[in-house]
Amino acid sequence: MAVERTLSIIKPGAVAKNLIGKIITRFEEEGLQIIAARMIHLTPEQAQAFYAVHRERPFYPELVAYMTESPIIALVLEGENAIARNRDLMGATDPSKAMPGTIRGDFAKSITRNTVHGSDAPETAATEIAFFFSQADLCPRAC
Ligand code: ATP
Ligand code: MG
Repeated sequence: MAVERTLSIIKPGAVAKNLIGKIITRFEEEGLQIIAARMIHLTPEQAQAFYAVHRERPFYPELVAYMTESPIIALVLEGENAIARNRDLMGATDPSKAMPGTIRGDFAKSITRNTVHGSDAPETAATEIAFFFSQADLCPRAC
């Protein structure tokens, strides 16, 4: 296994409900290190660009509307196998199918309002991290 970096987003509904700390605690208790963090209120253009891979899907307008309704927290998580470990912590995309104990299983309201985003592969992680952060924003540290 390799040390990986992955992009996490705490989505608008979760920020609005004061769940930032509870969600970050899950990452830290899993042993993932937060090496960058930023709060940002996405513009429609930014949200469209971030989720451009889904632009032909019927849920795209609703997804963009949700992601722009209030601020998000963007995080870079670092650790062994961080991409899959973060996806495991998140749970299934549809919260009705997410296991209890996962972030979406415990906090999400619907498939659109599903609390968190996580990169799904090394290539998308690199692109998504660069969407929010420059190299100088990343603060890795020795364990
Ligand atoms: P994310 O990319 O946000 O981490 P994911 O990788 O689990 O989620 P994707 O298939 O990449 O899921 O979908 C991106 C987002 O689009 C989902 O998080 C969800 O909010 C929304 N979405 C996906 N599928 C649907 C659907 N069938 N109906 C409504 N919204 C959907
Ligand atoms: Mg995805």
